[in-house]
Amino acid sequence: MERNNLKVFEEALTRLEAGFDNLPAFDDSVDLDALRPVLMQVAERLHDNFPYHHPLYAGQMLKPPHPVARLAYWLAMFINPNNHALDGGRASSAMEKEAVAEIAAMFGYPQHLGHLASSGTIANLEALWIASQERDGVILASEQAHYTHSRISAVLRLPFESISVDKHARMDMDALETRLRTGDVSCVVATLGTTAAGAVDPLHEIIPLARKYGARVHVDSAYGGYFTLTSNLGENARQAFDAVPHADSIVVDPHKHGLQPYGCGCVLFADPAVGRHYKHDSPYTYFSSDELHLGEISLECSRAGAAAVALWATQKLLPLEKNGEFARGLEAGRSAALEWRERLDAEGWRVAMPPELDILLFADSKFDSGSITRSSNAIFKRAAELDLHLAVARFPKALLASWWPDLAWRDAEVAVLRSCLMKPHHAEWLPAIHERLQKARDYLDRPDK
Ligand SMILES: *Cc1c(COP(=O)(O)O)cnc(C)c1O
Repeated sequence: MERNNLKVFEEALTRLEAGFDNLPAFDDSVDLDALRPVLMQVAERLHDNFPYHHPLYAGQMLKPPHPVARLAYWLAMFINPNNHALDGGRASSAMEKEAVAEIAAMFGYPQHLGHLASSGTIANLEALWIASQERDGVILASEQAHYTHSRISAVLRLPFESISVDKHARMDMDALETRLRTGDVSCVVATLGTTAAGAVDPLHEIIPLARKYGARVHVDSAYGGYFTLTSNLGENARQAFDAVPHADSIVVDPHKHGLQPYGCGCVLFADPAVGRHYKHDSPYTYFSSDELHLGEISLECSRAGAAAVALWATQKLLPLEKNGEFARGLEAGRSAALEWRERLDAEGWRVAMPPELDILLFADSKFDSGSITRSSNAIFKRAAELDLHLAVARFPKALLASWWPDLAWRDAEVAVLRSCLMKPHHAEWLPAIHERLQKARDYLDRPDK
């Protein structure tokens, strides 16, 4: 765990303090003898985690924040601004607007209304709520969309229906048009980067269809949004990301692929006029400014100003540019996923659809669905004992059957191994990762097992 940067942190803290040195001093010291054992306990307790920060963790969507995000967040916490209202956090509100404008520019929105939220769930909730305010009707999302959409719809009491997917785990366009034709659709949710498989719904085809039938389009790219910066996408994903500027709203999670600590989602609307739906008349909020502040365009009230400061700092160090260092990091993860798939395929593992982002699905070379499920779970466990951390995901027969025509299906779904290669380091660690995977399988294939 890198700590050289703590020296720079001290310097920055001194600089922060200098801004308030006109104030009389007060004592806010703590008793170090009391603090030390508690902090040591915290360090001990935190041992009980998978090593999310290490390249051998290649399972779920977990990626450590960039050191600059960690330090900027910490620095801001000495002030602890609240981005609910301008008077709760002037600097951090301005930094949020700047950082959000850079995200809007990354997606090619010519104008926008947007803000950070505490998560992708809340950001999506705001988008579906605005959709329902703009247009009555059903919310549609694919069967592979995040479960949050059906649950949010239930919370908002909006009717929700799912649309089937094709063999690439993308929303099926024939099924979508059939449903749109029957009318009464408020909004189609297109997922660019599904949580299970990293599939990209064909937004470039969804938008014209939705427009034809008068529905709105919301893009959920909580996981995948930043991939719009990469230069090594396949054709479908590239076209989908290029269509984003024509969608009504978009969600991206800086706390997934944007190198931020948890507590950082983002929602953007193409039409700034939707701000009118947020109108409220709070007798509590300090309205000392005439400017529209963040509390007037978001559903949440108190929010970490520190999250905005961390994001702003990260985007200063690693601008959201094509061919920039940040984009290259995403490209490395995607290349690693493609390379690993080829290797697994060549060595007789079962692979399914080629990854559209950096998420890879694979399974041992068994011949019936039950054996695949058992071996995925066993390899997952054994690999963890060898310090390689993967994930397991269940998929329906309908999605995988055409990839594995020789497989005997005795179940409606099958569990496969899943790996999110989110860290730039994953590319160079691939040989070490693959070696541990093989060891796990070889161990389980021993006759006495
Ligand atoms: C992670 C994710 C969400 C939920 O976001 P949280 O930040 O975990 O609340 C929604 N949609 C997609 C596609 C996701 O990957």
